[in-house]
Amino acid sequence: MAKALYLHIPFCARKCAYCDFASAATRADNPLVGAYVRALAAQLSEVADLGLLEDCETAYVGGGTPSLLGAEKLGGLVSAARAAAPGVDELTCEANPDSLTDEVLGAVREAGATRLSIGVQSLDDAELAELGRLHDAACARERVAAAVACGLDVSCDLMCATPRQTDASWARTLEGALSLGVGHVSVYPLQIEEGTAFGRRWGDAEPAFNDPDVQAARMKQAQVMLEGRGFERYEVASYARPGQRCRHNIAYWTGAPYLGLGTKASSMLNLEQYLRLRASAPQLLEPPESAVRARLTVETGPRALTADPRLSALSLSLEFLTASQAAAEDLMLGARLTDGPAPALVSRARALLGPSIDDTLADLVARGLLAERGDRLAPTARGWLLGNELYGALWALAPGEVVEARC
Ligand code: SF4
Repeated sequence: MAKALYLHIPFCARKCAYCDFASAATRADNPLVGAYVRALAAQLSEVADLGLLEDCETAYVGGGTPSLLGAEKLGGLVSAARAAAPGVDELTCEANPDSLTDEVLGAVREAGATRLSIGVQSLDDAELAELGRLHDAACARERVAAAVACGLDVSCDLMCATPRQTDASWARTLEGALSLGVGHVSVYPLQIEEGTAFGRRWGDAEPAFNDPDVQAARMKQAQVMLEGRGFERYEVASYARPGQRCRHNIAYWTGAPYLGLGTKASSMLNLEQYLRLRASAPQLLEPPESAVRARLTVETGPRALTADPRLSALSLSLEFLTASQAAAEDLMLGARLTDGPAPALVSRARALLGPSIDDTLADLVARGLLAERGDRLAPTARGWLLGNELYGALWALAPGEVVEARC
């Protein structure tokens, strides 16, 4: 059954200037917010009754801004996830500093959260204002320190190649985050996306602050500083002290099945799990005979989901993958990890995809995107910098078209 559970909260206090995630600015006291949380709790018990969460080991409440829900609602949702998936031993909540009150911290810890992922992005006030963040650096420092002090495992999200950022201010942000005692840091270059305030402002202008060379230099700067302070880079964007890796995210990159609930949440299920879900959601289409994997995305908006939370009322987009396509996808996801895809996974891909896989892997080694490390083929620094080429070449091994549908 699913190894990982994801719950999506599609609400934020305000939309950040760069964000194209599935979230909308919503007041925390909007009745829709409470009704949405109750709807998620109802869906949790429905999927638990189907046995889909029996083997679930990790859960993640993401968004959007889960901390915007406040202590009672977020604590209640964490408790509902615990009850529905009693085998979970890593449960993460995302939070933003401005809504991570002491009450929220106490409630999620009491309800059984083990980890917090806090959207800090920068510890420079001018940079934060440009990004459209609601918190300033002092608030971020104070709230991260409070989260660490209350005993939860804490991760900070930090963003580089942003407006006004310099090498020196980036170093201060990294140093500041480290000084707060966090055990995990995620580092991302800013992507200027269509449909965002930044996209409207800069479009295709390729501003100098976001130049690919600047992105690469800042990612390298982060690597040097974080590795120098005892953090291990275990994924292209993720650094952890020993024992602090995020197992939930590792599940995504190692082909483990996961189940997502809430507007725009995605699931990846094997056929047995898909058919089990279909028992309660008969609108799900009959899978093609060759399919071994189904990807589902919830298309129902928060209002409709609240009006009728039954699984049978959900609108979903679907993708069905054959065994060969799933193997290529697993290789591509595994290339995000420092260690690269597991040897067993490469052997399975070879058995399914034939000798063409060895030509592709040899070509990626020759181009310096992959390198042999012991019995594994792992991404190089260049491979991660040119991630689209590396991931694209591995996904191109997948034969045929993925079957897509809506229901
Ligand atoms: S808080 Fe996060 S999800 Fe919400 S708008 Fe900002 S970046 Fe997007």
